[in-house]
Amino acid sequence: MSRNFFNLCAVLLILFIITACFCRSDRNSGRSINPKLIASNTDSEEQTQVNVISESDNAKKKKADRGDFIVQHDEVKNPRYKEIDRQIKEEKELEKAAQRLNQSLILPHDIYIRTKDCGEANAFYDDLDYSVTVCYELIEHFYKLFKSNGDSDQKAYENMFDAVRFAFLHEIGHALIDTYNLPLTGNEEDAADRCSTYINLEELGDDGVRAVIAASDAFKIESRKNLPNERNLADEHLLQEQRSYNSLCLTYGSNPTKFAYIVNDGYLPQERAARCQSEYERTAQSWSKLLAPWRKS
Ligand SMILES: [Zn+2]
Repeated sequence: MSRNFFNLCAVLLILFIITACFCRSDRNSGRSINPKLIASNTDSEEQTQVNVISESDNAKKKKADRGDFIVQHDEVKNPRYKEIDRQIKEEKELEKAAQRLNQSLILPHDIYIRTKDCGEANAFYDDLDYSVTVCYELIEHFYKLFKSNGDSDQKAYENMFDAVRFAFLHEIGHALIDTYNLPLTGNEEDAADRCSTYINLEELGDDGVRAVIAASDAFKIESRKNLPNERNLADEHLLQEQRSYNSLCLTYGSNPTKFAYIVNDGYLPQERAARCQSEYERTAQSWSKLLAPWRKS
């Protein structure tokens, strides 16, 4: 895949217009032993109180902006990824993503975003240094996944970019949950998926829709490759099949008329589709309310 992969790297320029873990453990946590986090937990009590009061009150209690999304460029060790790394740096794609996030959100501290070769196909949020990392191996994994499903080189590339956008915003979801100490009443991995879906569908237009659909496709293709006895039912992440259907349900629910094909063409069972509109509205309202005190506008 290398030749086509790198020849088409230029398209990556679209990728991080705004930015999107993902697999296995995508959160590194040292909360119990990190002094700076003990300090930030003090603030969190006040944050939690704000989050449980009404949305209008939330909107009035804007937070002090003490941080930014900051791009960090690590040296790429694997020569395989040098070209894609060069292009990302040259085109300042991460910087553009950071700028867009900084225009939208107040931060109590800096959050670092980076792409690098990690030795595994993953993306993750690290609460020790407040960083979101997308591994080049994950980007390559998506390309190979879509190619294995019969996509042309170009189509696999487009789907790859879209799926990475979803993955990046999933990690941003973990970062926001931790940084803002957001209350959760369910599985954090599912919440991060829904955060990514919410931002994609509400703020990124057709690019966002393609990101959620590409992620759904990637989850479905991955699920077919894993035999049932190889699935880890104890994992924090939902099963790939569930993540795939959840993505479809929320997309359909965001606009049942526009996305009627998702049900009419049999991608989503009617039984699930019946409540997707209310499921989407609840998800969107919840994230809107949680982020209200942290919005700049
Ligand atoms: Zn995650």
